[in-house]
Amino acid sequence: MNSVTSILKALRTKQTSCVEVAQSFLKVVKEKNKELNAFVDVDEKSALKHAELLDQSHTTPGHLTGVPYATKDNILVQGSLARAGSQMLENYRAPYNATVVKKLNKQNAVRLGTTNMDEFAMGSSTETSAFGVTKNPHDLERVSGGSSGGSAVAVAAGMVPFALGSDTGGSIRQPAAFCGVVGYKPSYGAVSRHGLIAMASSLDQIGTFTRTVEDAQLIAPHLMGKDKFDASSYSLEIAEPVEIKNLKIGIAPEHFSESLDARVNDSIQKALQVYKGMGAKIQEIELPHAEYALAVYYILMPSEVSSNLARFDGVRYGFSEQAKSMTDEYLATRYKGFGREVKRRIMLGTYTLSSGYYDAYYKKAQQVRALIAHDYKKAFEKVDVIISPTTPTPAFKIGEKTTDPLTMYLEDIYTVGVNLAGLPAISIPADPVEENEKQLPVGMHLIANQQKDAQLLAVARMYEG
Ligand code: GLN
Repeated sequence: MNSVTSILKALRTKQTSCVEVAQSFLKVVKEKNKELNAFVDVDEKSALKHAELLDQSHTTPGHLTGVPYATKDNILVQGSLARAGSQMLENYRAPYNATVVKKLNKQNAVRLGTTNMDEFAMGSSTETSAFGVTKNPHDLERVSGGSSGGSAVAVAAGMVPFALGSDTGGSIRQPAAFCGVVGYKPSYGAVSRHGLIAMASSLDQIGTFTRTVEDAQLIAPHLMGKDKFDASSYSLEIAEPVEIKNLKIGIAPEHFSESLDARVNDSIQKALQVYKGMGAKIQEIELPHAEYALAVYYILMPSEVSSNLARFDGVRYGFSEQAKSMTDEYLATRYKGFGREVKRRIMLGTYTLSSGYYDAYYKKAQQVRALIAHDYKKAFEKVDVIISPTTPTPAFKIGEKTTDPLTMYLEDIYTVGVNLAGLPAISIPADPVEENEKQLPVGMHLIANQQKDAQLLAVARMYEG
């Protein structure tokens, strides 16, 4: 009974109660969290109390009544710690609920706790967290992926049936691929970002980790909607199932370059054959500016990071280091409170936004961003979805890339274009590869045109069968 769908069925037919469901998942958390470090906080008491109330009340209309879930450490839950994986927010408690949390409360989903992440969502391995590494349940020597590694592992290890994450350049899809679960990043603006600790606001998006595409389809409408607290949000209707006829899948050669692990390529080719077997047409498309996506991302994202993270000055939030003058206090707080990767990006972003370099870097990158978005638009005139691998390799070893930021950034090569163009995308498990007698998951990445989330999910669901 691990999927949201099966839990809801068991609850509806009274085979189990909300308390029993919560208890059974909390038991798994207790058994496995020491080893995996997926959760940074477990709210056992409040979860069980919530479940008990739901069992007692006979008039709970929610669509997710009694379904346990977890939130990433950068999503605000009133009264709970929200540390974004950083020492900077060590003791910070959220003063209000994020819109997504409010929405899930309305559906009576039961929150079990908070999951680990790379510091301020910067990373691809959950190794930059101030609260320790999250390990991959398929091989404890390997990373979970990042930055939402805790949420991916929580779902993969059966600690919760679904979890929320955030995706700025791949942080839902990449850990989903490494952990063998479904990671869905909705269209930019389809889900409100209110109450998400901002990394790069023009790219950030909240989405889900689930065991199945069916579950992702079930949950999405309950997260989406226009929100007066997020001016970029709008309402997108995806509850009605869409029928897929004459499916056309686009393949871009850029996504299958030499850096792609041959075994990962084999898995994706096999999956494409499955679609072909269902009558899909596969055709090559052109994304002429795709090769610049990573460079553009690593200019625009740090620029927005340097601006968004200016608020952590030791006065308003969390950690504060005392010093002689106010300026010294700012400096000391930021020097001690932020980790290396966060500081690197703040410095890069401050540089690209500085007056002598703004035109050469920031402005140029914005122009190329528009070209990248245009490429996708053109491609979607010919095909319904684009398929690629989610990552160039399966999960790498813990410590393997920590000393070389550039190789870590290459992890995002297939995922960042989607955020630059605001598109919906999903990573679903393809056939795993074998290494040292261990099965390592592989993610298949499906991308659809802006606001075509229903279509994207329906095509992903076809593969699930
Ligand atoms: N790995 C990417 C980065 O380090 C993506 C992060 C994210 O999506 N939050 O920036």
